[in-house]
Formats: sequence, structure tokens, C-alpha cells
Amino acid sequence: MAKKKTRTPIVAGNWKMNGLMSSKSELKTLAKHLKKQSKSACDVVICPPATLLKAFQSDVKGTRIKLGAQDCHQNQSGAHTGDVSAQMLADAGAKWIIVGHSERRTDHKETDALVCAKAGAAIAAGCGVIICVGETEAQRDKKMTLRTVGRQLKNSMPETANAGDVVIAYEPVWAIGTGRTPTNEEIAEVHGFIRSKLFARFGDEGKSVRILYGGSVKPANAREILAIENVDGGLVGGASLKAKDFWGIIKAYGAK
Ligand code: PEP
Repeated sequence: MAKKKTRTPIVAGNWKMNGLMSSKSELKTLAKHLKKQSKSACDVVICPPATLLKAFQSDVKGTRIKLGAQDCHQNQSGAHTGDVSAQMLADAGAKWIIVGHSERRTDHKETDALVCAKAGAAIAAGCGVIICVGETEAQRDKKMTLRTVGRQLKNSMPETANAGDVVIAYEPVWAIGTGRTPTNEEIAEVHGFIRSKLFARFGDEGKSVRILYGGSVKPANAREILAIENVDGGLVGGASLKAKDFWGIIKAYGAK
């Protein structure tokens, strides 16, 4: 089992553009598995497509599963066809909102400034915000990992954020969905660096902010990765779609 952590870890599943009403069965299976673990072992979040949030609300009631969204618009309402605001997502049951995922930074050309505005909107709507940062392979090859992550962290963090509002997800872009992961030492280096920046931003409270690792986490490597210092959980894509795989990761924090 992963070493007892000082912060309550979070294991968050990002379903991306996957999932239909029939996926409710995965949620129900996951809820059953979670009964095999102490409630305090870790927080569990599922971020389905926005279309499923409301429908999933009744399935997570009375379970440890909290719902999250994968993105939000930076404004509260208005003429933004096709967009969904943080307030709407909260209204549909989201307790968390992911912002700045690399797929959005790439596919939708999202800048740090936009991610920052979205994070501020999520907080204003009363949600916790999971801010994603991470370098591309080219940036790692040029030894620009810490510079890139430091810049993203500084510029994506809203002025209004308190330590209790935010979770940081370090996701090397080249590790997402590829089956490749950094070495434990590389993960520890970046997470330690992020922790130092959180102390600089929040003072002593920087120690309470959870830093998740994301990028090809699966049952086979979860125990090892989640035990690394300053890794306070995982943001999981592909392996969160099937309850069996997701539970295989969550149980790294122990099972009865
Ligand atoms: C992600 O998209 O946030 C992610 C970590 O994906 P995967 O686990 O599939 O690499």
C-alpha cells in the first residue's frame, strides 16, 4: 500500500469525450468497489462529459464519488453559443472543474491567461479547481520542463485562489494516453518544484495543496507512482473509463 500521506489524496477520472447514459453501470460498479476501502483513504472524483453530470447525480448520492467537469467557460452567462459556464456545471452537480488540460490548451489554443480566467470562474461558482500543467516532449528534451511548468503555474493561478480551492495536476503532455511515464525521480523533481512554488504563492498553506500526477497511470504502475513524495493522487484518463481499472488504481491507497 502507498505510504500514509499527510494530505488526503485525490484520484480523479477524466472521461474526456467518452460516456453515454449506459455508462451509469460503471459508476455503480465503482461505488460497490469503494465500499471495500476506508472512506478516509482518498477522495474520488469522476469527470464525465457535461451531458452526464445531472444524470449521474442520483448514482453518486450516498457514495464517496464526487462529480467534476472537464472545462468551463470563463464567463458566468451570455452570448457564447455551445459553451457551458462554471455556475451551470455546479448547478448540474459538479464539485470540481478541470481547467487547462493539455488537450484543451492544444485543440482550443487555450492560453495561461484564459486558463486563469476559467479557474477564477470555477472558484467563483463554488467549485474546487484542478489546474493542469505539463511540458511537451520537445520542452523536456530542451530541458525546459521546470521553466514551462513554473510559467503555467504562475500564470494560470487566479489572484482570488486560496490554497483550499486548488489542486494542481502535473501531466507531461508526452505521457498522456501514450503508455509512457517519466521516471520516479523525474516525477519527484517536478512535484517538489511545484510544492516550492505553492509555498511561494500561499505561504505555509502551500503544504495543504494537493498535487496530482497524470499521464498513463494504470493499475500496474499506480502503487509506485502514488507513493512518490508530493504525489497526492492521480488524474487518470483512459484507465478511469472502466470501473475495474479505476478501482485497480484507487486501491493503491488500501482496501479492506
Ligand atoms: C489525462 O488525459 O488527463 C490523462 C492523464 O490521460 P491518460 O491517463 O489516458 O494518460
